[in-house]
Amino acid sequence: MKYFYKNLSIWLIIGLIGIVLINVFKKPPDDVIHVNYTDFLKRIEQGVIPDIKLEGNVITWTNSNGESFKTVSPENQAVIAPLLKSRVNIEVREPKKPHWFLQIFLSWVPFLLIIFLWFFFTKQGGEKGGGGKAMAFGKSRARLIDPQESKITFKDVAGVDEAKDELVEIVDFLKDPSRFSDAGARIPKGVLLYGEPGTGKTLLAKAIAGEAGVPFFSISGSNFVEMYVGIGASRVRDLFKEGKKKAPCIIFIDEIDAVGRHRSAGGGGGGNDEREQTLNQLLVEMDGFEGNEGVIIIAATNRQDILDPALLRPGRFDRQVMVPLPDVGGREHILKVHAKKIQVDIDVNWKIIAKGTPGFSGAELANMVNEAALMVARKGDGGKVTMDIIEKAKDKVMMGAERRSLIITDKEKKITAFHESGHALTAWMLPGADPVHKVTIIPRGKALGLTMQLPEEDKLSHSKSYLFNNLCILLGGRIAEEIAFGDITTGAGNDIDRVSDLARKMVCEWGMSEEIGTITFKAASPVPGNPGPIISEATALKIDGAVKNLVNSAYDTSKKILSDNRKILDAMTQALLDHETITTEDIKKIVKENS
Ligand code: ADP
Ligand code: ZN
Repeated sequence: MKYFYKNLSIWLIIGLIGIVLINVFKKPPDDVIHVNYTDFLKRIEQGVIPDIKLEGNVITWTNSNGESFKTVSPENQAVIAPLLKSRVNIEVREPKKPHWFLQIFLSWVPFLLIIFLWFFFTKQGGEKGGGGKAMAFGKSRARLIDPQESKITFKDVAGVDEAKDELVEIVDFLKDPSRFSDAGARIPKGVLLYGEPGTGKTLLAKAIAGEAGVPFFSISGSNFVEMYVGIGASRVRDLFKEGKKKAPCIIFIDEIDAVGRHRSAGGGGGGNDEREQTLNQLLVEMDGFEGNEGVIIIAATNRQDILDPALLRPGRFDRQVMVPLPDVGGREHILKVHAKKIQVDIDVNWKIIAKGTPGFSGAELANMVNEAALMVARKGDGGKVTMDIIEKAKDKVMMGAERRSLIITDKEKKITAFHESGHALTAWMLPGADPVHKVTIIPRGKALGLTMQLPEEDKLSHSKSYLFNNLCILLGGRIAEEIAFGDITTGAGNDIDRVSDLARKMVCEWGMSEEIGTITFKAASPVPGNPGPIISEATALKIDGAVKNLVNSAYDTSKKILSDNRKILDAMTQALLDHETITTEDIKKIVKENS
């Protein structure tokens, strides 16, 4: 956008300078001799003026020597007729006009205003899809990465071996498309990579391009969806046109769900027609080229469940590859890939770190390694990344940066300490809950304090008792406040949100309540405006009742734990107030000393 404005202002300046120049040259040379009106009349009487030219009330003439003269006659002759008789010298002046430059400028104002307004609106329309050039309305806005520029290969992607295995074929095809077409083999036109954010989908797509040595077009699905109907569709057309020119190549569409959402799913007001048109165009383009032209579309999403089925039909994104969160081994691999770029102390054991980071995505691991390197760089003593520093970096990635500057009153601090102790103690006492790793009352991000639990191993599914424990732990914060102060604060807002969400899912999605039983009522798509599944009023009431029962029962469980262990709760709170952060070891000691 900036670039465009710069361009525009340059053109405007050039235009203005042009106008100025034209006018300077057009202006007649000012060597006309002014004569006042009385003199003029005298000369007429004397007969020295041959013929005159009248332009409005300006009279010009040239004498026999070729000199030019000029006078201005009064507009209202009747007024000065008596004056003329008195023989006073009368000089008539032209009425003052604004400076010629100002005139030109004024005549331009409406025009400039229109340009400005046009800009203003197109800019608004354009920005919605994430910054870009207003002029390039119908242009795809895809970023092109040349094969020479990008050095990313499969080596850089760790921990997703199955996905890689499925994608080697695509690399082979891109390297030598004719080999496949000669054999009459049909290669998928579209590959859909799906998985949680940060698992390396973009990275994989880039690696395919890097391995095959082909250009890589990258665009985000949200760039297609604009305020104006038709723009998205023309962008899609343009994208495919560009792609075909550069074939063999990869076109990568990130966040395909932004355009490819299920068409009946509705979607929060406006832009719906536009999205449908864009999606249709995408389908048309995908059908419109032969699989062997050497263009492969790779799309990524973390919501493959809400995609329009039409997108997934044969001939479109018919190859779907899941990119999962890495397991322990995968995490170790990813950590090592990223550790190559930094100075690491010999005592660092990546296996242990991988064990302590279940649920981390590749992006989070990369982020953690980078944070550790930054922390070392900030110290500036030329040291290396140690286990200690990585632990700090992990906290930062998991919980956000510490906000030590936030001013907190002692009373608030005490409430937070009780609140976090409530979470931690409930977690500690419930068998089967994830072990408490660390509790802190140092504010991080939006939270005033945090209780961190770390599962002992990667979990792929959760039992009802595990989820119920989570409800209890989440409620523990609020209950501790209540027990300690007899009053409650807004600090538990987020906890309560999560409790409600989890309990509803347990009832509606996982069939974990007696009242509802094993029937699901999950919303087809959590899109605003989507009516969701049809539920009778009686069932809706039953669902609400079941959710409430679940939460109430968790509340009672947690309250019993905290009341029964009041002494430990107080001791833990005191420890937090003294040290701000306590770990598993500290809690072990506190529990032992106070029970
Ligand atoms: P996604 O597209 O799935 O949201 P990205 O590919 O954008 O995730 O990942 C962001 C960054 O995280 C990558 O640039 C890379 O540094 C790191 N990363 C993610 N997954 C992996 C992985 N499997 N191996 C190595 N690095 C990874
Ligand atoms: Zn809480």
